[in-house]
Amino acid sequence: REQKECPLDSELLGRNTWAFLHTMAAYYPEKPSLEQQHNMKQFIKLLSQFYPCHTCASHLREDLKNNTPDTSSNIKLSEWFCNLHNGVNVRLGKVEFDCSKVLERWRDGWKDGKCD
Ligand code: FAD
Repeated sequence: REQKECPLDSELLGRNTWAFLHTMAAYYPEKPSLEQQHNMKQFIKLLSQFYPCHTCASHLREDLKNNTPDTSSNIKLSEWFCNLHNGVNVRLGKVEFDCSKVLERWRDGWKDGKCD
């Protein structure tokens, strides 16, 4: 049966955006230059201005006021996004994710090989 493709609601937008952000962080350099670090901070700041769910964007701007992105390596940035995402999870009453497993989830695949 033909499926109509529809505009995203905030849940689908969120799921897709988190997939992108965690994947981007996982593949960010291990040793970023100062310029790369600066640009990543700008990217996150601009995301909080243009993210097309307005209450989400406003929460994100609040979060960024007292939580500067750690752009010093792919691992640090992945941990930072993981903690940010957990903050949203808690706000929405969802379970927190174990951030020690963030690279397994978004880059390497699970240790049991189920993504191979
Ligand atoms: P999602 O939370 O979208 O997660 C997708 C997958 O990511 C999960 O299945 C899991 O495998 C993995 N995951 C879960 N937690 C983590 C983590 N901490 N680190 C790494 N991986 C993880 N919705 C609102 O209603 N209000 C808001 O204020 C709001 N703010 C948002 C701000 C941002 C920047 C973004 C990107 C989204 C926001 N959302 C907000 C959307 C919300 O976070 C969810 O994306 C949406 O509710 C769909 O949830 P989900 O249960 O499908 O899983």
